[in-house]
Amino acid sequence: MTFLSSPTFTVHDAATDRHAESAFDLRDVSVGFPGSDQLVLSGVSMSIRCGEFVSFVGPSGCGKSTLLRLLAGLLSPSAGVLSRGESLRDGDVSRVGFVFQHPTLLPWRTAAQNIRLPLELGRTKNLRELPDGQITQRLEQVGLAASDAIKRPPQLSGGMQMRLSLARALVTDPAVLLLDEPFAAVDDLLRLKLQEDIRRLHQDRELTTVLVTHNLHEAVFLSDRVFVLAGTPSSVATEMAVDWAGERNGAFRNSPVLSECARRLAAALFR
Ligand code: ADP
Ligand code: MG
Repeated sequence: MTFLSSPTFTVHDAATDRHAESAFDLRDVSVGFPGSDQLVLSGVSMSIRCGEFVSFVGPSGCGKSTLLRLLAGLLSPSAGVLSRGESLRDGDVSRVGFVFQHPTLLPWRTAAQNIRLPLELGRTKNLRELPDGQITQRLEQVGLAASDAIKRPPQLSGGMQMRLSLARALVTDPAVLLLDEPFAAVDDLLRLKLQEDIRRLHQDRELTTVLVTHNLHEAVFLSDRVFVLAGTPSSVATEMAVDWAGERNGAFRNSPVLSECARRLAAALFR
């Protein structure tokens, strides 16, 4: 995580009764960047419930990363309202874990030192002296070994670096996990394994998880709901609930339900 400054987002405290179950609520949100008169996102309205797994798909450059940065509080809406749920309302950035699209691990620090980074930057928890035993537990939780603690990112494979980024994002025990194309640098086989690991993590912790991906099958496999971003500027073109009550495993991956969902998403994207 690279939260080097305080969040600057516009936060409106939604009425507790109405939004008790929403982690995020966006109403007519637009985002533009200084120096450009073209908005990237316009009129985005949607909610993400606490404990939900949601994905955003859309063409390259449509504003997926921008939307995640907005949720993380790294950007402010140019117009509209972004409300946050109770657990995120104090503006404490440590409540949000972010795995960025491009690796942001510090190559000169060991894996253990990378994991500790958000704690060093955070302002709420006094956990800077995270014991080594806890580091081992954090590594094992994402499928790394205790012996990896002293390795530096260049000594780790793409998949291991992704796992390390995930461990770092989770070290503050965030209420929300934001994942920006986290599997881009890993091979296909490992990708499937990591997807299952992430879904399990989400389920075990009831962790609100928001994924950005351009892989439609991946979005369906992981998500409770998938949102298609499209248009210029982009807004939510389609929202699709993934109707699968069972486990997210090989059976689901090979099911007609998954294929049909992906087909419908593709149709919405290339409409
Ligand atoms: P995606 O993640 O869907 O590929 P992005 O959210 O990264 O798309 O970018 C959406 C658009 O916003 C692009 O046209 C990009 O050039 C522009 N953009 C993103 N970040 C900035 C920035 N910091 N300043 C100016 N323009 C930006
Ligand atoms: Mg992106």
